[in-house]
Amino acid sequence: MLLTHNLNSYLNKNILLTDLCRYYNIGLELHGNKFFAYCPFHEDSALSFVIFPKENLWKCRCGKGNIINFVMKIEGISFKNAVKKIEHLILERTH
Ligand SMILES: [Zn+2]
Repeated sequence: MLLTHNLNSYLNKNILLTDLCRYYNIGLELHGNKFFAYCPFHEDSALSFVIFPKENLWKCRCGKGNIINFVMKIEGISFKNAVKKIEHLILERTH
């Protein structure tokens, strides 16, 4: 088992939040150097969901985080299963 820190950087290097948004059919708008979307976690009419592509982080008035807690929230699954899901997506893409 990789250390959490190494695991995080491995996943972050291999999948982007913008890839995950494409996967979950979340439309993105690019403004400046940030992406904006309707938040997938609550009713939203104001593009409250912001992605910082350089940091691979997201932020909204309902929360903030990285690719792992994004998948946890959107799928309603545990940390461990979110990591598995992301690893699976990375493998699928490289084959
Ligand atoms: Zn939100």
